[in-house]
Amino acid sequence: MADLIIMSSKATEEEINKVVDKIKSLGFDVHLSRGAEKTIIGIIGDTRGVSDELFKLMPGVVEVISILKDYKLASREFHPEDTVIEINGVKIGEGTVTLIAGPCSVESKEQLLKTAKFIKKTGGKILRGGAFKPRTSPYSFLGLGTEGLKILQEVKEIIGIPVITEVLSSAEVEGVAEFADILQIGARNMFNYRLLQKVGKLRKPVLLKRSFSAKISEFLNCAEYILKEGNDKVILCERGIRTFDSEFTRNTLDLTAIPVLKRETHLPVIVDPSHGTGRRDLVIPMSKAAIAAGADGLMIEVHPKPEEALSDGFQSLNFDMFSNLVNEIKPIVQILGKTF
Ligand code: PEP
Ligand code: MN
Repeated sequence: MADLIIMSSKATEEEINKVVDKIKSLGFDVHLSRGAEKTIIGIIGDTRGVSDELFKLMPGVVEVISILKDYKLASREFHPEDTVIEINGVKIGEGTVTLIAGPCSVESKEQLLKTAKFIKKTGGKILRGGAFKPRTSPYSFLGLGTEGLKILQEVKEIIGIPVITEVLSSAEVEGVAEFADILQIGARNMFNYRLLQKVGKLRKPVLLKRSFSAKISEFLNCAEYILKEGNDKVILCERGIRTFDSEFTRNTLDLTAIPVLKRETHLPVIVDPSHGTGRRDLVIPMSKAAIAAGADGLMIEVHPKPEEALSDGFQSLNFDMFSNLVNEIKPIVQILGKTF
């Protein structure tokens, strides 16, 4: 089985094109990645019937590799260097710890503006805020909807900070994409394949949250759905999984997933210790642990008055706690030689 054709650094344009043409003639799409050392040509599709022998002897070919996993574009083998995603000058990926912060839900312009000012001043690089909220009970606050998106945009313009917000359904993708710099796919929608394909058609960054009970391989396959459509700006987010203890924590933050994902994939990995624990007193320790384990950033819920929040107040930090979080993670970021 052939998945990746590794071309020598000395391979000519013509030799590369010949391999590309051969792949296309077999009915497959091609993914070309040119590095200083070598050029990697990926065969996109079900390659089970494609023999190595077809390519091995072609001029310029050094090696033919088969990827036994079903996620290919997401795999490290396919793309050995870390993917770094840039959003209006803010980097997410290797070498940086990026702080995304803001309220669970956009509640009012005043609430969001106040929070955005504070988080930007304190080191937050991207503002979060849900306008369409997927809540467990349909009687809970379901977000301000379009009104919330408009508030996000106003605050983004005033403060000068990129924004991330959740999109709940395929029908709403275009509408939300107009306002958001990063589209968030929530834990409840990780397995919504149509939605993944739809955001895959955009060229906007997508933050994909791991579902409550998703295996890491399922998580990566869902990322693959987005990548396969041509959108290579996918950010993974570990946000806690269901285990048996709900007495002391809302979810179990799977810290193990961080080094596993960093090994398996080139995509940036963000950790959300707010939903991951469900308790504000656990957010700082788990943030430190996540960065130490190799996370490329954090997503933190912050509210000016968590006790009055319309959603997730119990896991939201107030401004003082957010400042403490930043002070506590800074030395860890420094020790790791990363920038903040
Ligand atoms: C959120 O980040 O607002 C959210 C709803 O998270 P999750 O999808 O992880 O539950
Ligand atoms: Mn929330």
